[in-house]
Amino acid sequence: MKDLLGLREIETAEIENILATTAEMKKILTQNVKKTNHLSNKSVVTLFYENSTRTKTSFEMAAKFMGASLSSIAVAQSSVQKGETLIDTGKTLDALLTDVVIMRHNISGAAHFLARNIKASVINGGDGMNEHPTQALLDIFTVKEQKASLKGLKVAIIGDIKHSRVARSNIWGMTKLGADVTVAAPYTLLPKDLDKTKVRVTTDADDAVKNADVVMGLRLQLERMQSGLIPSIGEYNELYGLNEKRLSLAKDDAMILHPGPINRGVEINSGIADAENSFIERQVTNGVAVRMAVLFLLTRS
Ligand code: ASP
Repeated sequence: MKDLLGLREIETAEIENILATTAEMKKILTQNVKKTNHLSNKSVVTLFYENSTRTKTSFEMAAKFMGASLSSIAVAQSSVQKGETLIDTGKTLDALLTDVVIMRHNISGAAHFLARNIKASVINGGDGMNEHPTQALLDIFTVKEQKASLKGLKVAIIGDIKHSRVARSNIWGMTKLGADVTVAAPYTLLPKDLDKTKVRVTTDADDAVKNADVVMGLRLQLERMQSGLIPSIGEYNELYGLNEKRLSLAKDDAMILHPGPINRGVEINSGIADAENSFIERQVTNGVAVRMAVLFLLTRS
C-alpha cells in the first residue's frame, strides 16, 4: 500500500493487519519505551488545512517516537495563502524528499487527489465529510481491546451522520469486521447514500441504543452544516444526546465512544462523557499506537 485514504477501499485483511501492528505498537508505548527507529531514515510532513488537536498531535508524536524527521506546515502561514495549488504544494513536498504526507483538508476527496499526484505516501487525516480512516481504526482497536472481536457486536452511532467523516470510516470499517451497526440522526442529518452500506438507519436514538454493546456520539459538524438543520440545541440534546436515561437502554457493559472534541450538553452529557465505561481518553491513547502502525506499514520497504 502506498497510501491510507479510507476504509471503504481497503481489504478486511489489511484492516486486520493494521490492528495487529497497532497492538505491537501499543506495547512499545505502554512499556514506556516510546522510542523505535523504524522511521529513522524517513521524513514525515503534516499538512493540516483544518483545525485539529488529537489527530495532528498524535501523528506528530507517533512520527517522533519512531525516529522520523518531522515537519509541520502551518497552512495559514504557508504559500497556500499566496495562491499555491494543492498539487504544487505536493510537488514541493516531493522535491523536499518527503516520504509521508499526512493531510487534513476541508474538501472530500482532497487526499485521493493529492495521492494520485505525488510520489510520497499520503495518509488521510480527514477529508471533508468523506473519511477519517485512522480515527475509525483507533475506535475499532479500542473496541477490540475490550470486547476481543467486533463480530456480531451491536454498535450505535448517534448524531450528525451526514457531515461526519468519522461515521463514514467507522461504517465501512466496522461492518467489514462483522459488527451490526445502526446509525441514528434526525432526518436532516442522515446522508442519502447509506443504502450502499450494511448499516441500519433510524431517526430514533433510543431504538439504536437499545441493547447496544458500543454507543458512539458525534459532534454536530457546524462548520459543514447549512443553517436550519436542527430546530434547537436543547431539543437536539433531548432527542439525540447521550445521557443516563438513554444509555440505560444499552447493555450494562456498553462502551461509550466519541472521537472528540466533545461538546458537553449537546451530543453528550457530562455524566456520560466522564462515566466509568467512557473510553474517550483511551481512544486518544490508542490513536498514537494506530498512527505508529500506519506509519510503519506504509514506509516499510
Ligand atoms: N475530530 C473528528 C474529525 O476531525 C471529529 C470532529 O471534529 O467532530 O472529524
